[in-house]
Amino acid sequence: MLIEHPTIYLDAAGERTDALLIRDGRVQATGDDARHAASSDDETIRPDAACLFPALGDAHIHLWGFGLRVGTVDLRGMNADEALDALADATPRDDRWVLAANLDEHQFDDGQNLTRKQLDTLFPSTPVCIHRVDRHAVWVNTEALHRTRFDQIYNPSEAGHVERDADGEPTGRLVDAAAQTLTAAMPQADIAEDRQMFLDSARRLHNLGVRFCTIAFCSVAHLEMLTDLADDGKLPLHVDVLVDGRDPDFDRFLREGPIHRPRLRAAGVKFFADGALGSAGAHLLEPYRQGGTGLRMHPEGFLKRRIPELMEDHGLQLAVHAIGDAAAREVLDAFEAVSPAVRKKLRPRLEHAQIVAESDQPRFAELDVIASIQPIHLHSDAPWAPKKLQDHQLRRLFPWQRLKPATFAAGSDFPIDDINPWHGVAAAITRRGADGEPFRPDQALSRQEILAAYTTGAAFASHCEGDFGRLTEGHRGAVIALDTDPFGAEPEQIWDLQTCKLEVAPGNR
Ligand SMILES: [Zn+2]
Repeated sequence: MLIEHPTIYLDAAGERTDALLIRDGRVQATGDDARHAASSDDETIRPDAACLFPALGDAHIHLWGFGLRVGTVDLRGMNADEALDALADATPRDDRWVLAANLDEHQFDDGQNLTRKQLDTLFPSTPVCIHRVDRHAVWVNTEALHRTRFDQIYNPSEAGHVERDADGEPTGRLVDAAAQTLTAAMPQADIAEDRQMFLDSARRLHNLGVRFCTIAFCSVAHLEMLTDLADDGKLPLHVDVLVDGRDPDFDRFLREGPIHRPRLRAAGVKFFADGALGSAGAHLLEPYRQGGTGLRMHPEGFLKRRIPELMEDHGLQLAVHAIGDAAAREVLDAFEAVSPAVRKKLRPRLEHAQIVAESDQPRFAELDVIASIQPIHLHSDAPWAPKKLQDHQLRRLFPWQRLKPATFAAGSDFPIDDINPWHGVAAAITRRGADGEPFRPDQALSRQEILAAYTTGAAFASHCEGDFGRLTEGHRGAVIALDTDPFGAEPEQIWDLQTCKLEVAPGNR
């Protein structure tokens, strides 16, 4: 087909053309060459849109799990009273649990709280589990603790925390390993439920203009689910998978080796070096404002041994979650233990890179480590970060300009944050928090830089830069139509940007 439009961007640098010839799913020619090469057999379309753009990627997303369950009550943006009202109206699932997600205590009014006892009043005999917005903590009622036999199964020596009131009674808030222990003992989603969630989330992503993504955490069993979908031709987008490096079945994945199918690549492994900032689980070099340095997920030396093994001996790409500066250093040290040639080839990724020590900032570029960033986290975290972090830590929070010239790959971290990539683009160029205040705007990325992170950068991180990220010859014809030109519009308009239908006004030549 021949696509004609006065503004067709070929890449995030803003290179333009006015025609694209796409045959067998690939761009064959652009501009006048495209018009000349087109024959009467090629359908011509002239989309009704402000511009056409290369399809975006989401370099870090979860499409099922992480509290994505059928019937989950969404508490995003609610204070404690609103959340309790929403829960009171909830219909329990088939398994009789009430599940909710996206609660954030920073949305609570002063003095408000949400406790086990409040939940018990509403739900004396129905188990309730509410995921914190970042999935690193849960709120539960007594029945949930009882049903999961939490007291018997939780080992307090693990990296977690059971919050207690002045009388030593659990408040119902469990953090990190404690939360994981409880959720692992709840009725689990079966593959059919997760498959449904995957397809639903992937459709949402597709509607926003995303055509390729990295699933930032996947069990070996779920990889089989994706492989089946790929074999049945049912993957709605190109999917790159990071397999859980702590999965009990991980050795099976190692034995069978990476998977490369049409629309599916599974050649990466995911580890977590620390927790999240909101629950003070990010591992810091110096204490939080309230004390404590956060959580370290692996014993000393584990990553430094395991990462070179998996990269050098197994040829796998590595991606490690590191939010705090101590975690980032631990991960960079582990990547440094891999030979430069292997790093260059496999493209290790550091996920989040939220707080990075000054001396570690240039190491991303030096060590060929991709900075996998989620600009929407700045929007969410900036309003409350000053309460958690000391000033010298705040100065190094989301230090994007300082990580240059590293390769950036941008993502949403949905469902932990907003799925809409255009919100991420707007947040990256304004560095405005949800309160409207700019947060260290000197570290903002330019439009070209953030759009590159969502296109060529995300494609590079997924080893699919020959297919996605640009509309130049040989690339897939993954083109999206936008109602707003991201190079010309105000950030507020980018925030509200909508994709348009591509197949509009077909005309004969
Ligand atoms: Zn994530």
